[in-house]
Amino acid sequence: MKDFVAFKNTRRNFLSNIAMATAAQVVASPLLANTAKIASSGADITVGQVIDQFISEVPGGKLKETVDTLKAGSLDMKVTGIVTTMFATVEVIKKTIALGANFIIAHEPTFYSHTDTTDWLAKDPTYEYKKSLLKDNNITVWRCHDYIHRMSPDPVTMGVLKKMGWEDKMINKNPNLIELTNQNLKDIIFSLKSKMGVDELRYIGSLTEQTNKILFIPGAAGSTTHIAALKMYKPDVLICGEVEEWTTVEYIRDTRSRGENVSLILLGHIASEAPSATFILNWVKERYPNLLVKYIPAGNSLSFL
Ligand SMILES: [Zn+2]
Repeated sequence: MKDFVAFKNTRRNFLSNIAMATAAQVVASPLLANTAKIASSGADITVGQVIDQFISEVPGGKLKETVDTLKAGSLDMKVTGIVTTMFATVEVIKKTIALGANFIIAHEPTFYSHTDTTDWLAKDPTYEYKKSLLKDNNITVWRCHDYIHRMSPDPVTMGVLKKMGWEDKMINKNPNLIELTNQNLKDIIFSLKSKMGVDELRYIGSLTEQTNKILFIPGAAGSTTHIAALKMYKPDVLICGEVEEWTTVEYIRDTRSRGENVSLILLGHIASEAPSATFILNWVKERYPNLLVKYIPAGNSLSFL
């Protein structure tokens, strides 16, 4: 089932990113502007202080409505160490405990829906297991999704561009739009596989087709956003994190049948947004140099045969 809140949120972010990026001037990352280290740099820092510091560096500051809430633990917990990741999976939680850290900052939900409501999961064995694991080991989990996507340019998208070597290929400084030369679809797919660490990619298109103009929309922005952006930017290929097979995928198929050469590459949600965790890792290192911090990858969830 489609998560409307997720769609609204991501769509707003995506469209505002486009608006910000197409403005003549791209605002430098507030993180780069603020180089001050936090005075106590690790000792006796609480979860709440780390979160407040992060939010204070995000344009617009604290949000009234956000999914970036605590999923376990408490704000006044003293931080022994921080783990950054895409998903606070059971495996990531166990590695966090083994490391001696007690604060996980994850990009995505902990309990299987965008808002992380848990009433519907009561007495579910997997939910109860994960909840107890967190509680028994005094682990706090904070989702940092809406805040990181509000930064300009979006560090998640920029992280992928950096890995791909596309930073200087943006059209009008828009990190969602890339212009390359002499590329065909096969070149793009192989480049994504080797640089993003993905074994196999699903795609629609002809491998020899010229594919120079890329629309990149990480995560799961939703078909309405994908289709509106395709219409607006007319790319040769849309690269997105994930999408339902029955929406954007079929739209691309029909568009090709109509005679337009537009392709689609599904990079995978985790691969398309994992740079969020490395960004927060570096942020913590810079702000709290004495604090234990580690990026623990959630890894690719799905295998290919
Ligand atoms: Zn995201």
